[in-house]
Amino acid sequence: PLFAVAEEGAAFEHDTLDKVSVQFPLPLPEPFDYRAASSLGIEPGMHVIAPIGTRLVRGVVWRVEKDHPGAANLKAIEEVLPGSPLPSISRDFVDWSAKYLVRPAGDLLRMVARSPEALLPPPTHIVLAPTGETPPKVTEARARVLEEAAKEHVSAAELARRADVSSAVVKGLVDCGALTKLEISEDPPFPAPDLSMSGKALSAIQTAAADRVCAFVRDGGFHVSLLDGVTGSGKTEVYLEAAAEALKQAPDAQVLVLLPEIALTQSAMSRFEARFGVTPVEWHSAIPHKARRRAWREIAAGRARLIVGARSALFLPYPNLKLIVVDEEHDPSYKQEEGVIYQARDLAVARAKLGSCAVILASATPSLETLVNAQAGRYAHVELPSRHGTAELPDVELIDLKIDAPEKGRWISPKLIRACAEAMLRGEQSLFYMNRRGYAPLTLCRACGHRMQSPETDSWLVEHRYSGRLVCHLTGFSMPKPKACPECQTPDSFTSIGPGVERIEEEVREFFPAARIEIFSSDTTPDGDAVRALVKRMEDGEIDILIGTQIVAKGHNFPNLTFVGVVDADLGLKGGDLRAGERTFQLVSQVAGRAGRHEKAGRALIQTYAPQEPVMQALAAQDRDAFFAAEIAEREAAGMPPYGRLAAIIVSAPNEQLANDASKAMGEKAPVVDGLDLWGPAPAPLSVIRGMHRRRFLIRANRGVDVSAFLAAWAGRVKLHSAVRVQIDVDPYSF
Ligand code: ADP
Repeated sequence: PLFAVAEEGAAFEHDTLDKVSVQFPLPLPEPFDYRAASSLGIEPGMHVIAPIGTRLVRGVVWRVEKDHPGAANLKAIEEVLPGSPLPSISRDFVDWSAKYLVRPAGDLLRMVARSPEALLPPPTHIVLAPTGETPPKVTEARARVLEEAAKEHVSAAELARRADVSSAVVKGLVDCGALTKLEISEDPPFPAPDLSMSGKALSAIQTAAADRVCAFVRDGGFHVSLLDGVTGSGKTEVYLEAAAEALKQAPDAQVLVLLPEIALTQSAMSRFEARFGVTPVEWHSAIPHKARRRAWREIAAGRARLIVGARSALFLPYPNLKLIVVDEEHDPSYKQEEGVIYQARDLAVARAKLGSCAVILASATPSLETLVNAQAGRYAHVELPSRHGTAELPDVELIDLKIDAPEKGRWISPKLIRACAEAMLRGEQSLFYMNRRGYAPLTLCRACGHRMQSPETDSWLVEHRYSGRLVCHLTGFSMPKPKACPECQTPDSFTSIGPGVERIEEEVREFFPAARIEIFSSDTTPDGDAVRALVKRMEDGEIDILIGTQIVAKGHNFPNLTFVGVVDADLGLKGGDLRAGERTFQLVSQVAGRAGRHEKAGRALIQTYAPQEPVMQALAAQDRDAFFAAEIAEREAAGMPPYGRLAAIIVSAPNEQLANDASKAMGEKAPVVDGLDLWGPAPAPLSVIRGMHRRRFLIRANRGVDVSAFLAAWAGRVKLHSAVRVQIDVDPYSF
């Protein structure tokens, strides 16, 4: 403890008592009140330990009422912790998000105050450094020690080891004043970005875009720009300029760049390093504990300036954030679907508004919401219309599978095979895109028709041939593929239905037995190292044909890739999702955009059974504006986002009866609100997950209806069985 709080009331005579409200990182909606001596000088944001019942819990001071008459009756704060106070903007953000997401504020505080050790001063250790004094007697051993000590400051034991002397020799040198002890931190501060460095020489169009976003940053207030440009147009170069501008605004100014995938951080890190001479601070789930602690502490202290991270980085305690970049802003992985459910892109805009900072949303295929905001003038629309240099957009063609059908039992039509062969003859690379992991999505018994289903959900198990297992892609459950049908016991009766990447690879191998073929999916490249190694093999020309899932759509840049074959463009259209058309357009055009990013012209062939669908026509014509115009008109007519709001409530219970009863009882308690439609309860799209039976309500509301307030009011009326869980998703992504 830094200091324990003085016993009973006042630390000094005549001291007054403050009422201190503390928010805890627990599912509690409101702070609890405590008393503390005014002389302790407790301020909002400070970290403290206080009792809840019989437990002592770490929390953050939310409010302080000085010299409060009722304080004497409250329990005392137990301890005040050191460390930078949580900035007021972080507390505001917690309160705002809690209200918007209809979650207890403590759940959000937990996301902010992740690492308790970060509050303690960084661990230190003692090293020895030469003082310059000459010892009275210089033996050969002493001379060796001094020589080693001059090279690097290390511990006494290490110094003795390096000089190959006994520890007594080292101690003797300390005693006579030739060596001195230094205490050094194990968490040195991050080096500051070098703002004298400059970026690449920008083209006229890029310069114009950079000038605009830099001006918004300089203005200093809340401002959102959509940086809209095809893949390879230089969006990253432009936002690097904006980052430089933001960092110049103050000695402690901070910039956060959000990326959708951990796998992308490495290439982003090297571009930042090239631009600013330092590696940015990295933040995502795979960062080791110690690095996380250091990052948190340095960010809270305002010393970490440049932060690159995944969506959770948004909740870090930045005292002086000047710019947030959300790269690939359309990417669905910005939506967190577990625990606290939130959309990081939307919350980034809210965070920026609270903290008066600039936002850049960058994408080659912006989300419909963002585009509507830009068209309405709420966001600046900064466009980068062409690719940098001579690279052209690929030539895109639809392949109607009803006409150009693959051979029986195959998935790839001869036109795609021919185009791939041509690329190989030119010494260029090809990519086949199949957005499904594994070998086959369904394993069926030919004898009795039994389908292998996940025991934890109501979805099918996906066959993975490389691992020989059947896998549930939702929960990660897996089992070896059985030798006989578990239903009718017939041996070897299984047949694989439908394709996944592994099956496409098998087919491509039959056509090109000598080619070097690799799969790029989260199974083959589970982490950043594996992704980097694969990207390097692609760049070095060690791969002829890549077979990839949507992981390939994300930002990778393969100069010699000139042919892209989309095996099943219809895949994402199934299932009646609000964003199905939009997502298909984004994914397929991003994948097609992998072809011909450099001097060489690219070609993309898209297989579909529905070439007449507007989304397919728009892909072929590469006419994003026409596609979005049609989508926007449809959403507007239906009052769907962004012209209305959606929310989903999932009620889950350990058995079906309870799920039905609880959701029915809840439905009866729903307040009636003008301009708000309530549908359900109905079985949720995944009606069973890990033994929990799920029922869902959907809410559609006109803009202007406070959906969060409706949900909070509703929740307040309902008392449910303790085994029932209610999850609120204020902006559901798929339904
Ligand atoms: P985007 O983010 O829009 O996909 P990038 O900024 O990654 O585009 O640019 C694509 C490629 O072109 C990168 O390799 C980048 O370094 C290069 N590039 C873009 N603009 C310039 C420029 N002005 N000068 C030199 N290279 C550039």
